[in-house]
Amino acid sequence: MIRVAGVDKFFGPLHVLKNVQLEVPKGQVVVVLGPSGSGKSTLCRTINRLEPIDSGLIEVDGQPLPAEGKELARLRADVGMVFQSFNLFAHKTIVENVMLAPTKVRKTPAAEARKTAMELLERVGIANQADKFPAQLSGGQQQRAAIARALAMKPKVMLFDEPTSALDPEMVQEVLDVMTGLAKDGMTMLVVTHEMGFARKAADRVIFMSDGEVVEDSTPEEFFSAPKSNRAKDFLGKIL
Ligand code: ATP
Ligand code: MG
Repeated sequence: MIRVAGVDKFFGPLHVLKNVQLEVPKGQVVVVLGPSGSGKSTLCRTINRLEPIDSGLIEVDGQPLPAEGKELARLRADVGMVFQSFNLFAHKTIVENVMLAPTKVRKTPAAEARKTAMELLERVGIANQADKFPAQLSGGQQQRAAIARALAMKPKVMLFDEPTSALDPEMVQEVLDVMTGLAKDGMTMLVVTHEMGFARKAADRVIFMSDGEVVEDSTPEEFFSAPKSNRAKDFLGKIL
């Protein structure tokens, strides 16, 4: 579903993605781990062309991502993205936030968009918050709203970049539970996270990045019990 082949990315002289190879087959959950600055966010951002790449190929559902134009907007809509900060529109209610892209981009009639939005809010457990404004919700509720908003575009894949890092500890699990539910429903997911419990339980594969390179690509069992590289051993030594 996602194929990243031989991708290089530079920020000026800084080589931040080095010949990155990565596949996320349909229905798989791949967790990306790695130290700060290793290129995890940049990888996510290149997959929907928020960042251009310097060489290589990125395909979503068998289609290369074009650099610009109408095609890009269409393909980008296939890739849902959830960031650390929720980025909800402050002056719109929760249900309006979820309806916005379907009505504007997909031209879905408002009544239908609202119905779908309410179903999604139900799915992430905050249907009772639909008519509130983002500032009236907890961080965990806002992040669940952001997930509902991404799902409203019916994406083929979901990218998560540290979706729980900005949350108070007691709210982390409710967001991870929603993500686990999505995974069980068969969503194709690429998840950057420091939540090792989620990686162990929900991931089909773990990718370990260091210094712009994919250093390991293995099952969670292999990665956590017997990391192959010294870089991964160092990393696990610091966080576990
Ligand atoms: P973290 O765990 O801290 O989120 P990360 O693995 O997500 O780190 P990236 O944000 O992808 O790392 O950054 C990779 C490298 O690229 C870092 O050295 C960073 O400073 C650099 N970088 C990221 N974005 C830019 C930018 N817009 N301009 C210049 N350099 C950047
Ligand atoms: Mg990052």
